[in-house]
Amino acid sequence: MRIAETPDRLPEGGRVLVPTMGGLHEGHLELVRLGADIARERGLVGGCVVSVFVNPTQFDEAYDYERYPRMVEQDAALCAQAGASAVFAPSVETVYPTPESRRDPVMPQVAYEPKLEDAARRGHFAGVCLVCRRLFELTGAAAAVFGEKDWQQLQTVRAMVRMLRSETEIVGSPTVRNPDGLAMSSRNRFLSDEDRARGLALSRSLLAAGREPTPDAGEAAMRRVLAEAGVTPDYAAIREASTLMPPAEGVPIERVTWRAVVAGRVGSVRLLDNMPWPLGEGADGSASG
Ligand code: AMP
Repeated sequence: MRIAETPDRLPEGGRVLVPTMGGLHEGHLELVRLGADIARERGLVGGCVVSVFVNPTQFDEAYDYERYPRMVEQDAALCAQAGASAVFAPSVETVYPTPESRRDPVMPQVAYEPKLEDAARRGHFAGVCLVCRRLFELTGAAAAVFGEKDWQQLQTVRAMVRMLRSETEIVGSPTVRNPDGLAMSSRNRFLSDEDRARGLALSRSLLAAGREPTPDAGEAAMRRVLAEAGVTPDYAAIREASTLMPPAEGVPIERVTWRAVVAGRVGSVRLLDNMPWPLGEGADGSASG
């Protein structure tokens, strides 16, 4: 598996990009498999390129940035097994060659209006928008695959690409969960056994919400499940799925596409999760790993 540090070392031809920060798990590898399938179906001979870049501009805590797992050789071996054509592991200087390249992101409303992730992690989506735009430019990706796990991020990147009239198509892929329901995350390795058990309250709260007849009752159910587990959420909300705003007053519930979203700190780790609302029989919009 080739580890390219600069774009000229990437395989020639059209590409599908899977942007990651490394520390890869089965959730990322599902995106890689989907990316490789898309490249094959569309005859993009450059294949599926996985970027591994711990982006300094999207961290709001120095400690979180410093301890973020870095293991690119191991990641590259997993990417090869999942069908990637190359790993793109650029330096900070390659992604941000000038001070200006770290400034003035193109940010859609969904990045700053809903007061969800944007309120809890100030500056985070500015960094996400900066890095995604740069990675799309550097790799010339025809398509890029993102996980539904980070729902507000997926909506943000989709909307940013529309604003930029970029050629890169954004493809979403369902959340991959552990058998106990916890959404897979590179940060889960920092959970103690006890915190991991408490962390299950996030997916439980979404399942409980999905069975309630109204968004208000769903939100109350989420708060109840989280409180019982002793988890104080940053937010636990049911919103319109693409803007993440509350719909206009008076719009009938069944006319809206909804998404239930939740995030909160458990021990030293911040967890986030989401599911469609309401939940159909046996459905939660996830894939199990
Ligand atoms: P990260 O390395 O955490 O920045 O994530 C890179 C990509 O993988 C993002 O598009 C995430 O949404 C996606 N991802 C992370 N965890 C999961 C998961 N459990 N299921 C599906 N996608 C995921």
